[in-house]
Amino acid sequence: MASFTLHGIPVSRGIAIGRAHLLAAAALDVKHYLIAEEQVEAEVQRLQNAFDTVHKELQVIWKDLPQDAPAELGAFLDVHALILSDPMISEVPLDIIRNRHYNAEWALVTQIDELSAQFDEIEDAYLRERKVDIQQVGERVLKVLTGSATALSGFTGSDELTAHMIVVAHDISPADMLQFRDHAFGGFITDVGGQNSHTAIVARSLDIPAAVGMYNASALIAQDDWIIIDGDAGVVIVEPTPMVLEQYRERQARLVRERKKLGKLKKTPAITRDGTEIALLANIELPEDCAAAMEAGAAGVGLFRSEFLFMGRTGYGKRLPSEDEQFESYRKAVLAMKGRPVTIRTLDIGADKPLDTAEETALNPALGLRAIRYCLAEPQMFLAQLRAILRASAFGPIKLLIPMLAHAFEIDQTLTMIEQAKAQLRTANKKFDPLIPVGAMIEIPAAALTLPMFVKRMDFLSIGTNDLIQYTLAIDRVDHEVAHLYDPLHPAVLYLLSSTISIGAKAGIPVAVCGEMAGDTKLTRLLLGMGLREFSMHPAQLLEVKQEILNSDLTVIAPQAKKILRTFEPAAINAAVEQLRLL
Ligand code: PEP
Ligand code: MG
Repeated sequence: MASFTLHGIPVSRGIAIGRAHLLAAAALDVKHYLIAEEQVEAEVQRLQNAFDTVHKELQVIWKDLPQDAPAELGAFLDVHALILSDPMISEVPLDIIRNRHYNAEWALVTQIDELSAQFDEIEDAYLRERKVDIQQVGERVLKVLTGSATALSGFTGSDELTAHMIVVAHDISPADMLQFRDHAFGGFITDVGGQNSHTAIVARSLDIPAAVGMYNASALIAQDDWIIIDGDAGVVIVEPTPMVLEQYRERQARLVRERKKLGKLKKTPAITRDGTEIALLANIELPEDCAAAMEAGAAGVGLFRSEFLFMGRTGYGKRLPSEDEQFESYRKAVLAMKGRPVTIRTLDIGADKPLDTAEETALNPALGLRAIRYCLAEPQMFLAQLRAILRASAFGPIKLLIPMLAHAFEIDQTLTMIEQAKAQLRTANKKFDPLIPVGAMIEIPAAALTLPMFVKRMDFLSIGTNDLIQYTLAIDRVDHEVAHLYDPLHPAVLYLLSSTISIGAKAGIPVAVCGEMAGDTKLTRLLLGMGLREFSMHPAQLLEVKQEILNSDLTVIAPQAKKILRTFEPAAINAAVEQLRLL
């Protein structure tokens, strides 16, 4: 096949070279056709074989469950195995083939639709939600029937094999992306998505080259095509010529050598040339990421996105991790960081991080019931999380970080609930740090513009530039159609950033940046020049940012940064930021 190149949005650096592994979208739309009488039994057998394969798949997943997997995961697999064995699923579709001569896929979907409709009638909300399990089992069987690529959850390839596989999909949910941790895939390509969608963020945290917003890449790329991803440029080369392949292999080897060299900076303190100490912290999604944070020499965790403990639990509706399960995760993180502080952000669910992918979403989810708004609307769930975090604070330094605050009453209500959680723990005789610092994410323009409200009530601030940019510029961070307008250097964004940093400094409370801007070496000097002294980023970005810091002199940079803040022409801002890097 002839070579061709696709252009999209770069989201995770590096070069990946491997063969395409197409992930089919899990949809219940299938071919419908009638089969001849003499083929009926063969069609029945085809469906029966698919049932048997899925049974085996479920057994393999069961067997491979890690020791520390949440108990619910096993229960969820049990439910799927039970559904698969139920005659309503395992026999009725076979009868439909025999009686109505439907093809296997059609017969299966007909029965699943019928059962789903019956479930919709059930009054009990919990039982009604079991519909999702039935649909998921159906999708699993359909994937086998249609021969489409295995769902992620059923993926059983060995690491040796998967390391050279490039996953190509229309879209990958952040929860699905998390499953990639278990297999070292070579890279990711998706048709949709923006630079700071949570799927992109997880790809970056895995430190695997990725490109999103590739429009119809999943339709143009065929299974097993040779692929190069240039993660820095957002370029994908399909079926490259031997010469191009060779060039990229060389670049890949060079990048590996450069990374190795950076490893030497691990223990070097992050101090600028003029002697200013900078705190470099890590962003994590799961407690297991602490190992990478320690490995990169992070001074602590600046952002633990706790919602990743809650996501991808569609198999059992909205059943959330219990207080004890959460406590174990938070404790694991704080112990792994060996005395370095761990900043745990309370549940930031909603928008592109739904609790349940099958859940109905609001028309404008990014403006809807997400993050702290959701938590305040679900006080029992929020209190359970607060208690779990507080209990873990008895095992090491923890800070509480609250997402998406905009109103004074939200801050006050949150602080009251923290006190309530503390009182509950005192009654239960459970230990916790009574002086646990509480901070606010500054990620809504309204918050950045009303900082006195925050500095009065909070111990620290952390600027979430991903959302701050989204809400300031009215650009959906997930939408590739407007990704070109998502501009961290827009003067409005720079104004909000710098005023938050300087007002925080004047009030004497620490300000960090934990959005993606903090890990972008192109912006390190600009942020330093604005007065930022705390950066939180993916562990994989930390040493490069440190290198930039070691080479920076604030006495030279700060006056230039001030000039940039007085500039309102995008081209001039871009040129000046480039210039800063050369100083
Ligand atoms: C942010 O908004 O910048 C942030 C750090 O949080 P998240 O990306 O999880 O929304
Ligand atoms: Mg955010």
